[in-house]
Amino acid sequence: MRYSNYFIPTQKEIPADAEIISHQLMIRAGMIRKLTSGIYTYLPLGLRSIRKVENIIREEMNRAGAIEVLMPAVQPAELWQESGRWEYYGRELLRFKDRHDREACFGPTHEEVITDLVRKEIHSYKQLPINLYQIQTKFRDEIRPRFGIMRGREFIMKDAYSFDVDEAGAGRSYEAMYEAYERIFQRCGLKFRAVEADSGTIGGSYSHEFMVLAESGEDQIVNCIKCDYAANLERAEVKEADDVSPVDANAFETLDRVETPNQRTIDEVTEFLKISPEQLVKTLVYVVDEAPVAVLLRGDHELNEAKLKNALGAQSVEMASAGRVEEVTGAPTGFAGPVGLKIKIVADNALKSMQNFVTGGNEKDLHLKNVNLKRDFNAVLFGDLRTIVPGDVCPRCGGEIAFGRGIEVGHVFKLGVKYSEAMKAVFLNEQGKEAPMIMGCYGIGVGRSVAAAIEQNHDSDGIVFPIPVAPFEVTLLPLQMHNEAVVAAASKIYEDLMNMGIDALLDDRDERAGVKFKDADLLGIPVRITLGSRGLKNGEVEVKLRSESESAMLPVDNAAMAIETMVKGLYDSLK
Ligand code: ATP
Ligand code: MG
Repeated sequence: MRYSNYFIPTQKEIPADAEIISHQLMIRAGMIRKLTSGIYTYLPLGLRSIRKVENIIREEMNRAGAIEVLMPAVQPAELWQESGRWEYYGRELLRFKDRHDREACFGPTHEEVITDLVRKEIHSYKQLPINLYQIQTKFRDEIRPRFGIMRGREFIMKDAYSFDVDEAGAGRSYEAMYEAYERIFQRCGLKFRAVEADSGTIGGSYSHEFMVLAESGEDQIVNCIKCDYAANLERAEVKEADDVSPVDANAFETLDRVETPNQRTIDEVTEFLKISPEQLVKTLVYVVDEAPVAVLLRGDHELNEAKLKNALGAQSVEMASAGRVEEVTGAPTGFAGPVGLKIKIVADNALKSMQNFVTGGNEKDLHLKNVNLKRDFNAVLFGDLRTIVPGDVCPRCGGEIAFGRGIEVGHVFKLGVKYSEAMKAVFLNEQGKEAPMIMGCYGIGVGRSVAAAIEQNHDSDGIVFPIPVAPFEVTLLPLQMHNEAVVAAASKIYEDLMNMGIDALLDDRDERAGVKFKDADLLGIPVRITLGSRGLKNGEVEVKLRSESESAMLPVDNAAMAIETMVKGLYDSLK
């Protein structure tokens, strides 16, 4: 491509609403432009990067046996009513009516449409397994669209859906996608981790999120500093410490009432009683599927609602209102405790090894000291209910847990029979019996992957693209556009590169060298060739990698071939 015939509207100013670097750089490098909140036009450079990621995804999906289709963006409400999600999905779903007053939505995801297709076309185990995918535009009316195309409202996603005859098959489909995703993100040059994620009540036993490691990431990732265990915060398991001494009933002290006027929070109570939060048990009253439940945690621990929900097999868990707390405990909030409570009590595992602890007294301005399990109250269930913290032990290897941040670029999910049962996607198995298909779904944010690559690869001058995601592989900067030798040598190398199938951008603008260098740095094209009259007199051109500060001189005659080798080397380094 010749720069002078192209459309790269770069800009110096940092857009006021661009909070993170990839958003700033994508605007400044002329890759995207905002139309309205969360909705962007992909300019030529942005589109080229997007297409490159799409091609990598396509190759790896095809290699893994998935088959490409393209489904409509507009979906009829009836399908969503069948799956039960028309009510459930909430305001992220963009709904509208057509001229016949029929309700529809702009698809935020395609489980309903694909399940409808498959139930109509596939009837026998002989036609299974099948995995269908598409690369398509989604719409989600995100509550907080931000970070440019990282969290847009309209965005491009690759979504795949697998259908299997049984769990074992579904497991194999999941594995195949997991491995394809590893290859895809590896080939994109991203530093990532697959983390175990919570699949909530969707049914599947597990899911993994593919997280690009970046400080600006919206997701907290929990990882072990020793082994490759990684999980998201909701999911990360807390391993029960095995070196704690069991409670000793002989050491139980007499239960005591202490007045704690107006001391409600953990800080207030521990300060007032001169104890540490580890000696206190907090009692949270939750409404679990309508019934009140008391949840007990060590004072310095936080409840993980997703774990509570899973442990109780509940549909919904919600903190009780102040009124409900008073009704259940007989005391205002801040004084709840397990002793004498008439509701179900569940406790975090950490309580198993606690003794003589402090709790609320279920009376205003009262706490209890020397409370003990079994002697003073009982819990119906112990479990892993709390959120992991840095310094906890790794549930896999016992190493130390640390926290980091990540950007979710992909998600693989076991769906089970959630959609196939609701929408009757059934097949006849080998015994001639009808059974629901076992499904999986697998998404990748295409635009978000490009943004994440920039988030991970930039410096103070601009983008430093990993070559597979770069809009061009090589840029040529002829420094004197009025010098025929310079222009001719640049054109020759450019033509040679094009013939070799290398994507090159020839900056043939009649601009000062400084402008060309600045723009080249901003755009982040991995290989830069500079042609100046002085170098050419010695038969040389300069070559420099965007990722390195040193440059080298190459003989002009064999420059194209040397560049070809260099480009290949950059790809090979990501294999
Ligand atoms: P998030 O938690 O970031 O909202 P999600 O869990 O809603 O993501 P999925 O439904 O699993 O996302 O969608 C699959 C992929 O689509 C995500 O892994 C992400 O890369 C991408 N994606 C989701 N929402 C957006 C968005 N608003 N803008 C750009 N990409 C998105
Ligand atoms: Mg989302």
